[in-house]
Amino acid sequence: TTASQPKHADRSKVYMADLESALHYSLRVEVARAGTLSGAALSALKCYVALLAKYFPGRPFVQTYLQSLDGWLRNWTEPELPRNAWKEAVKNKGDASHPAMLPTNVTWVGCQGSEPHFRGYPCSLWTLFHLLTAQALQSGPDKELPLEVLSAMRCYVKNFFGCQECAQHFEAMAAESMDKVQGREQAVLWLWSHHNEVNARLAGSDTEDPKFPKLQWPPPDMCPLCHKEESGVHAWDEPAVLRFLKAHFSPANIYPDYTE
Ligand code: FAD
Repeated sequence: TTASQPKHADRSKVYMADLESALHYSLRVEVARAGTLSGAALSALKCYVALLAKYFPGRPFVQTYLQSLDGWLRNWTEPELPRNAWKEAVKNKGDASHPAMLPTNVTWVGCQGSEPHFRGYPCSLWTLFHLLTAQALQSGPDKELPLEVLSAMRCYVKNFFGCQECAQHFEAMAAESMDKVQGREQAVLWLWSHHNEVNARLAGSDTEDPKFPKLQWPPPDMCPLCHKEESGVHAWDEPAVLRFLKAHFSPANIYPDYTE
């Protein structure tokens, strides 16, 4: 698995390569670290895969892959899932007429850092979950299952995300306010505003890629209408932010490759 060099990633786009790389890395690398999965970790995995099968706007063979993995996990009723069984389950399957396939490489495009240790997977995981909150918003009534995506993300991060310090920070934010989210729109905005909190905390830190400074996002040049001023102080126009997030994290804004 090597990171290929992208031509010119456009920061106003979302790239399928980043999203599929996030799925590959989370399912086949992070989840596969533990010798056996049980209890909260096994529940978190089932919840994450069910969410992906429901909302990930993937290529048809990727959707088939996620659906068959979800079906397989639902049928796994034993309390423990050994790593070998999981490693077998996440392999590509199917035949030429019914492929169930998730690419087995990692290719960063929108998430490509200026050095290999910058950006990449954490960037793609944020992107994936923003996309999933936006997909859930388009798929059903606002008040129905408002925490479906956020609680799956919380469980995933707590049980599997390799950056332990990140997981602790995220869990602290979640414990403080996630349960107050009452609708799917609020869920989209919760993730956006808490991601900005993380951006603010990390601005200028040594994990910041100098070529991709941490900003309060979206910056004014990406979304002028998202910004306003109240008594001389910067404020977000939340309805405009929500419109922007829905458009940015929509299937129509996901680019299949980066060669155009
Ligand atoms: P990222 O912050 O990863 O953002 C990815 C992309 O999302 C951006 O390129 C942009 O297109 C978009 N974006 C940016 N801000 C927003 C927003 N507010 N709403 C919607 N979209 C946005 N690193 C640490 O050093 N310490 C931590 O405690 C830490 N905690 C983390 C917790 C979680 C749950 C995750 C997923 C990552 C965490 N990280 C942490 C990693 C860090 O947040 C970045 O992911 C990493 O530094 C790469 O940054 P990036 O420049 O690629 O942009």
